[in-house]
Amino acid sequence: MVDGMSEATVVVVEDDPNIADLVELYLRQEGFRVVQASTGEKGIEAVRNQRPRMVILDVGLPGGMDGLEVCRRLRADTDVPILMLTARDDEIDRVLGLELGADDYVTKPFAPRELVARVRAILRRTDGPRPDSTDVLLAGDVEVDVKRREARLAGEVVPLATREFDLLRYLAENAGLALTRQQLLDGVWGHGWYGDERTVDVHVRQLRKKLGAGLPLATVWGVGYRLG
Ligand code: CA
Repeated sequence: MVDGMSEATVVVVEDDPNIADLVELYLRQEGFRVVQASTGEKGIEAVRNQRPRMVILDVGLPGGMDGLEVCRRLRADTDVPILMLTARDDEIDRVLGLELGADDYVTKPFAPRELVARVRAILRRTDGPRPDSTDVLLAGDVEVDVKRREARLAGEVVPLATREFDLLRYLAENAGLALTRQQLLDGVWGHGWYGDERTVDVHVRQLRKKLGAGLPLATVWGVGYRLG
């Protein structure tokens, strides 16, 4: 169990001091303690030392390690929520970031209010399992362990990104129903989420890749997806 102090820390990995200070200002108003890091290496070190509640990660960082690489390395040993800052015209960074396990992204330039809304939405979503959830749901050959936040295939844990697990759980909780991408966005990412429906497709692709034929996840033409 993480204590309250460290839960309230956010690590901001951003080399532009103006943007970093702005982000810090708004997060402090939300009651967070902010630790800034100006390179990928420092960011990873800060996450290891601070055990933050969330990471805000710029894609364009100086030196040998960009934000995508930082995201990849963080995901190798932590499921801390990651919000990426991406350039407006860089679709590939956004898709890649989500595939690497980032939870969400904000495109620059962003309004502070939008950033804060995204941060709050991520915190709500990653606040642990809902109390009324059944402990283990079955989806084909996949066990969805809600309490432990684990997906198991033939008894083996399959590592999933935070949002991939949340999507799997939501599908399993609504097994047998054809769900639209919008329903999945609302149910998994929350109503305050501004993203588009391709985010759902990216995460479905990851679930299929990781869980394979053991996961009976069907594409319902003209609607969306159905599990079981
Ligand atoms: Ca930058």
